[in-house]
Amino acid sequence: MRTPAIAGGQPRFPEPLHVGRPNIGDTRRLFERFEGIVQRRWFTNDGPLVREFEQKIVEITGAKHCISLCNATIALEIAIRALELRGEVIVPSYTFVATAHALQWQEITPVFADIHPNTLNLDPDCIERLITPRTTGIIGVHTWGRPCDTGAIGKIATQHDLKVMYDAAHALGCSHEGRMIGNFGECEVFSFHATKFINSFEGGAILTNNDALAEKTRLMRNFGFVDFDRVVYLGTNGKMTEVCAAMGLTSLESMDEVIRLNRDNYESYKCELEGLPGIRLIDYNQAEKPNYHYVVVEVDASRSPLDRDELVKVLHAENVLARKYFWPGCHRMEPYKSLFPNAYLLLPHTEFRAAQMMVLPTSQSVSKNNIAGVCEIIKAALAQAEQLKPILKQRGPKVKPPVVFAKAFE
Ligand SMILES: *Cc1c(COP(=O)(O)O)cnc(C)c1O
Repeated sequence: MRTPAIAGGQPRFPEPLHVGRPNIGDTRRLFERFEGIVQRRWFTNDGPLVREFEQKIVEITGAKHCISLCNATIALEIAIRALELRGEVIVPSYTFVATAHALQWQEITPVFADIHPNTLNLDPDCIERLITPRTTGIIGVHTWGRPCDTGAIGKIATQHDLKVMYDAAHALGCSHEGRMIGNFGECEVFSFHATKFINSFEGGAILTNNDALAEKTRLMRNFGFVDFDRVVYLGTNGKMTEVCAAMGLTSLESMDEVIRLNRDNYESYKCELEGLPGIRLIDYNQAEKPNYHYVVVEVDASRSPLDRDELVKVLHAENVLARKYFWPGCHRMEPYKSLFPNAYLLLPHTEFRAAQMMVLPTSQSVSKNNIAGVCEIIKAALAQAEQLKPILKQRGPKVKPPVVFAKAFE
């Protein structure tokens, strides 16, 4: 048996395997589009590629309006402002920090609600307890493309006169109860960041069936301009550029292929890791349309010989840059940690799951062989857990964090 890299052996992979390496469509088409942009000299401000991209997203989702933006964080901020949310807004802590930041940035208090331990999404029962006279809205997150309980959330919102929107950053191409994501709540926000399912280098969009909201967000993304010299709203600069739309359109052309590949990768992992004690892949609902973009493993330390952090250390040493999304939860990041030092008391499932979950590399750049290699590392580590434990303790905090990666991909 080979010596694990954590115990001084050679790393299994000479080059790092990343989570969220961008998928690239047909590069020839991409360069043709770039050429068109340069020839037209129309780089931004509602150009033809941006419009085509918005139209394609409308076709995929069936939503009435798509307002493309420079990224999903600005999209969230604009949607929040256009919906006139203020005071307090209920959000999960188990999400990428941008969901909370988009509120706090405009001095709206994110109130962290716990997730349901099985869905990993907002637990509707936890929402009600957090509603105060200052609450104006709820932002659900369709974590890993697995939809929120939109029915229960909508009902609570109606009862308490709150607005609901969704951070659907992971959920393009996914359906819920037979309807595509993009049609729930007042609006939904997609991300087209390089790490996401469909990328436009950087990008985002607001999807809505509400005409007035669509109009307002369109104006807000371009300084509030309605005409050459007329500004009717407070606005910002949230526009998507033509170059980004070119990448977005090229990505979209291979969407079905990417879903097939993601699903294949997901199933290979599932098959290879089947039956290991305490190791379980999160499921996607086959009756719906998942995009299978994330391979997420739950490591139950009460049954697995190594816990999540130990497995991640073993994998990193082998050049498999598994991630701990969404550890430690927004409530343990600044400024929330200082603002709400006791938030964790109401977030037992968030704390528990955040310590268990591990996201493994998938995408176009990860081959079947790579997957078999990653799974071999996991199986060997679990089998050699007793020998590895003392080494892992020693090497504890010293194992290098993937600094370069963290910079390049969020
Ligand atoms: C990636 C992500 C965002 C932010 O998207 P950007 O396009 O990078 O601004 C927001 N929310 C969630 C849940 C995300 O995963």
